[in-house]
Amino acid sequence: MSKVAVVGAGTMGNGIAHVFAQHGWETVLSDVSEAALANGLATIGKNVERLEKKGAISRQLAADTLGRIKTSKSLDAAKDAELVVEAATENPDIKFDIFEDLDRLAPKGAILASNTSSISITEIAKQTRRPDRIIGMHFMNPVPLMPLVEIVKGKETSADTVAKTVEIAKQLGKIPVEVNDAPGFVSNRVLMPMINEAIFCVDEGVATPEAVDQVMKLGMNHPLGPLALADLIGLDVCLAIMKVLQDGLDAQKYRPAPLLEKMVANGQLGRKSGQGFYVYRD
Ligand code: NAD
Repeated sequence: MSKVAVVGAGTMGNGIAHVFAQHGWETVLSDVSEAALANGLATIGKNVERLEKKGAISRQLAADTLGRIKTSKSLDAAKDAELVVEAATENPDIKFDIFEDLDRLAPKGAILASNTSSISITEIAKQTRRPDRIIGMHFMNPVPLMPLVEIVKGKETSADTVAKTVEIAKQLGKIPVEVNDAPGFVSNRVLMPMINEAIFCVDEGVATPEAVDQVMKLGMNHPLGPLALADLIGLDVCLAIMKVLQDGLDAQKYRPAPLLEKMVANGQLGRKSGQGFYVYRD
């Protein structure tokens, strides 16, 4: 059986582990936080149950999916993995340390992928002695439902690594789209300035969050308003991405909205903290 290690059990990590396990991969979900591992497993349990109730997967597959997931507080989980997908906190220093460790621990031939939303894959690759095997595997939130995987090619990512990663994404039932490494890639370079602009509208009193989201849903046919989407993504993640765009592209054009900075400083991170532009009670 193919084996994957998923590093980080938060919003994205648990979804990524779920999807691999559902497609037959022996999966180890690792995190430095015991609470994150427990929450991650609980979320996977709920999501698998929901899929089973909807009839999207059989009872047997639901049980097999959960049976294929183990958890670990250590990166040693990468020791016999053929693929590692890193989905830890969006912070370059954290990711650089993780990749240095993974390079030491994982088998020489293993592909080390990052789910980063915006950090340079080429820079991540520099922390390792296998830059040809480093790639961006950018899943979308919620992972079990969203078809896209943005495949991000660093300067030294080999054609073989790209081909294998594309194949794996397809095997997971996803649709891979290849892009080159640049701040925010394509997805967040286009999406995040829109979310940031929506936050400026609230900040400047142009409209309430509800009104901003209504305009974009009813007028632009977006399934979710930008502020509800920001809450789903996590406001801390949105702020981190804006800062990467700002540092990498243009300081003024990509300036984070002051309200976004303020909300993150106040711990209002969106769904995961129970409060963002909206209040969440479950
Ligand atoms: P999150 O805050 O929900 O979870 C991050 C997890 O990483 C936490 O559980 C934390 O304990 C863990 N962590 C921190 N340092 C670690 C370490 N050294 N080793 C192992 N685990 C560690 O974040 P998230 O929203 O799941 O984002 C994870 C990654 O996915 C980020 O790179 C983010 O940019 C990217 N991403 C997020 C979204 C989204 O919608 N939230 C979408 C696509 C990509």
